[in-house]
Amino acid sequence: MIKYQMICKKCETTFDSWFASSLEYEKLRKKNFLNCYNCNSKKIEKNLMAPKLLNNPSKGESKRENLKFLKINKKIKEYQKFIKNNFEYVGKNFAYEARSIHYNEKKRNKGIYGSASSEEIKNLKEEGIDTRTIPWIKDNN
Ligand SMILES: [Zn+2]
Repeated sequence: MIKYQMICKKCETTFDSWFASSLEYEKLRKKNFLNCYNCNSKKIEKNLMAPKLLNNPSKGESKRENLKFLKINKKIKEYQKFIKNNFEYVGKNFAYEARSIHYNEKKRNKGIYGSASSEEIKNLKEEGIDTRTIPWIKDNN
């Protein structure tokens, strides 16, 4: 089952509707089987806005939240850019590479960055290897 918030284009009523699947929803929509419970209009569609934002009493507030989010986003991206320019990417081999630097004193011109599980980070820390964790935003996102 899938729940969609629907909005009526005629009376602007929003309501939740359950469908067996997104496919079923498309089928019903194409056959014009969907209608507004309030005014019976068939001009209803999926409301693409997140319910959380719709319930927000003041629009200004969500706008501010958005700005804050964008600002943080920008900061993280700047940080990512700095890391990309100054560190070597080792992908999922991070824990392995970090150890090889630590134990073999393997010489590298750059620091490294990559991904590791929280378990790996914990183990590295116990071995006295200093790591930093930062939130990472994928480029295509
Ligand atoms: Zn309606």
